[in-house]
Formats: sequence, structure tokens, C-alpha cells
Amino acid sequence: MLTADECARYSRHLSLPEIGVVGQEKIKTARILIVGAGGLGSPASLYLAAAGVGTLGIIDHDRIDLSNLQRQILFESTQLGASKADTARARLLALNPEISVQAYNQKLTADNAVQLIQPYDLVIDGSDRLATRYLINDVCVILRKPLVSAAIYRFEGQAMTYVPERGPCYRCLFPQSIDGMVPNCAEAGVLGVLPGVFGALQAAEALKIVLDIGTPLLGRLLTFDALDMRWQEFKFTRRLDCAVCGESASIRTPQDSAAAGQSRVALLIERLQPRALHARLQLIGDPPILIDVRENHEYSVSHLPEAINIPLRELSQRLGEIRAAATSIFICRSGARSLAAASLAIEAGHPSVAHLEGGMLAWAQDIEPAMVVADALKFN
Ligand SMILES: [Zn+2]
Repeated sequence: MLTADECARYSRHLSLPEIGVVGQEKIKTARILIVGAGGLGSPASLYLAAAGVGTLGIIDHDRIDLSNLQRQILFESTQLGASKADTARARLLALNPEISVQAYNQKLTADNAVQLIQPYDLVIDGSDRLATRYLINDVCVILRKPLVSAAIYRFEGQAMTYVPERGPCYRCLFPQSIDGMVPNCAEAGVLGVLPGVFGALQAAEALKIVLDIGTPLLGRLLTFDALDMRWQEFKFTRRLDCAVCGESASIRTPQDSAAAGQSRVALLIERLQPRALHARLQLIGDPPILIDVRENHEYSVSHLPEAINIPLRELSQRLGEIRAAATSIFICRSGARSLAAASLAIEAGHPSVAHLEGGMLAWAQDIEPAMVVADALKFN
């Protein structure tokens, strides 16, 4: 039952036929866990608190730093040094005293993840570490909890939703964990408003799942480029060989995928700037093998003349086509897929592996200004 105050507070929800009193009561009984009170967790938790989600959990072991305030709108300049989880709790309760908020001043790890996630109906991933993203995905699959995942990088973001039995998981889309290689906000920088866009989007997805309305981002990776102001969507399907949701899953208990070996892999990959690659290609003798891991249609628009095309999603099956004795240089559009490809090659035992930092976009900018780089990958 909603109180008179609640009816007033949520009146703009109540007048939507898709929500109404019944829907608002569903929101009131919902329990949502937000991992990370950062750039994504700030808008996501504020909107979910405002919407009247009855129980919110916030996990964050960090303290508020001056550099957080450019995007983490839960916090104020007077709160530097305070616990993020506790400060977030106070802020959310000030916004909506009708709800209850649990603050967890701890890091989500393989040891505590099941215990922390179990009491909740749905998880919002607002973490900024790839290893944590895989851990959350795995625990949500194991515990059969819906998950709304998002990630941001510089001017770009991506989001997807997992619902048990209804679609693929994060590991179906990105089978390999390559933590230590993808820089987080602290290292790469991020446009402050970008997590605002994606955190709000995560809150919308979570409410839709609670209400069972609309079409969630199942099997769809939604991406946004703030520089071009362009949204794109890539469809993907469940992998029968997925390590966590597949037919013979090897991951049955949570594990920290940031195994020590991952950073070793990162160290073994040579990172080439466009000018360095250009210089390398001018050398006579012992030519490297260039592998463009973009999709066929991107490759067909433009590529380096020496490059062969093996899309990233086919690479683990086709690594044998690459002569391991030579140096393998992986190339993609912006440098993320090539880094993943390089880690696969290292793990397969290739001794000399490099990738083009910034991808063909950087190459076009620095070396061949007339080159047109294809926009999107569309697999499936
Ligand atoms: Zn999966």
C-alpha cells in the first residue's frame, strides 16, 4: 500500500498506465544493489532512490577525492575524504526518506560477492574495473540475478542487460578477461557527463525489469559516442561454450578474474603508436604480420595494405593461421579489440605480440588523413 505522501511523491509515475499504483508498489518492494558509488552509481542511485525503490544497496570501499567531483554527483566539495558508501546513503535518504539504503564500505571480491548480491533482486554494475565486471557477471549468472552493466571510456560508453534464461551474459560477449590492459577513468580520462548518460540509462533498465515492461537490452550492446553524438547497437547471442552461462560452464563459483597472470600478459604486449608502426613497416627484412581484427565490412572500407583480416570473435579458432615465429601486430578501429586480440595471442604462446594503440582512427589521424575508417562493427 502506498501512503498519501507516497501517492503525491510518485504521482508522475502513477499517471503512467505502464506503472500506476500496482507498478509503484512493485518498485517499493524492489531490492537493487549498486556496485560502485562513482560516476555511474551516482546518477543510477539518485534516480532509483527518487523513483522509490524500496531497498537500495551501495557497495564502495573508496573515499571521496577532489578528482571525483567532476562526475560523481552524489558528493559535494565539503565531503572530501569521507566514505563514499556512507555519504551516498545519507544523500539518497535525504532525497527520499521513504526508502531504506544499505551502505557497504567494502570491496566486492570473490569471497564476499555471493553474500552481498544474494539478498537483492537486481544488480547495477557501476564498477570501473574489468575484473569486477566479470566477477559481478559471473555471480549474477550463478545466482540467477538480472544485471544491468555499463562501461565508459573517454567519450564513449556501452551498456547491456542480462536476465537469466532470457539472453546472453557479459562473458558471452567478451569471453576473455583482459584486466590490466583496459585503462580505467583514472588512467584514460572520461568526459564527466558520460557516466551521467549511462548511469541514468542503467536506472531506466532496472526499473523496466522490476516493472516487467518494455524491451530490455538483452543480447544488444548499446554504445554511445559523445563526440559524434551517435548511438549504435550490436546484437550478440548466447555462446553455448560460455564459461559461466554455457552448456558445460567451467565457472561455478565466483573467482577474481584479475589473476596475477593477467598483468603479466599486459606487460608482454608491445603498444605501438601509429608513427612507430609506420616506421616498423618501412624496415627491410623480418616483416611483422599485421592482423586486422575488425569485422569484414569494416576491413573492406579501408585497411593497411599488408593487413590480413581475422575478426576478433573468430580469432581464438583461427590463431593457427598466424605464423607464431614472426611478430604479430593486431589492429582494430580504436585499439580495444586489438588489445584483446593481442592478449589471446600471448596466452596462446605467441612470443612477439604488439597492437596499434588508438587503432585505425589514430592511424588515419597521424599517418593517412585521407583514409576513411568504417564506423561500426555489426556482428550477427
Ligand atoms: Zn554467458
